[in-house]
Amino acid sequence: MLQVSHVTKRYGKLTACDDLTFHLDPGSVTVLLGPNGAGKSTIMKSIIGFLRYDGQITVGGYPNKTVEARRLLGYIPELPSLYPNLTVSEHIEFLARAYRLSDYKDRAEELFRRFELEDKKKKFGDELSKGMQQKLNICLGLLPEPKVLLLDEPMIGLDPHAIKELKNLIEDMRAQGRTLLISTHIIDSVDMLWDRTIIMDKGAIRANVTRRELDADGRTLEELFFAVTEGVGREDMTHPGEEGA
Ligand code: ADP
Repeated sequence: MLQVSHVTKRYGKLTACDDLTFHLDPGSVTVLLGPNGAGKSTIMKSIIGFLRYDGQITVGGYPNKTVEARRLLGYIPELPSLYPNLTVSEHIEFLARAYRLSDYKDRAEELFRRFELEDKKKKFGDELSKGMQQKLNICLGLLPEPKVLLLDEPMIGLDPHAIKELKNLIEDMRAQGRTLLISTHIIDSVDMLWDRTIIMDKGAIRANVTRRELDADGRTLEELFFAVTEGVGREDMTHPGEEGA
């Protein structure tokens, strides 16, 4: 559903992503794990088409910057970029028009209910607390129901109720056959969710494993993470498992 092939992104002399290759299967949740500065946001922004890079990225077989690919792709950025002069409801209206969504009102209401924004609908973007801004940011990303959704550090700043709702929604989307890529540097925040984990460090992929492969190996995700990023214990899952490619 999403194929990243030999993608390299440099900022001046710094190579933020170095020849990355991986794919995501439909109906799966992939966690992109790595310490700060590993290159997670850079590859996410490359996939979504915000950055120039060397290499190829396709979504549903279409190059990622084509109209066809953009229709399939959604993105929830790490930092919300809200309009100070639009209310919560107006943000939803604005997005619905941009995506030409019809029949979105019930879904918007459901998202407001799940993320406890029902009584904030008339508040302006700059009147919301950081946590509420992040919840609205997530609602805006979920509203169009994209086939492929990228979530950059989505749990940061959320309260436990919102984290639970977001995890439930992610599981619903997976059950509907959607493809999700979630970046995070906090292992615990995603432990129950993933089908595949890609661990990045210093711009490179250090491990790419399915849950089944890790279970068979007998290690926890945390043990694998420290093995491949800090060389603690065995380090033998550095070659991408390309099953189903
Ligand atoms: P992560 O999301 O894993 O924390 P990033 O992709 O944000 O990592 O950053 C990867 C590397 O690229 C870091 O060394 C970071 O400082 C650098 N970097 C990110 N964005 C820029 C930019 N716009 N200009 C220069 N360097 C950048």
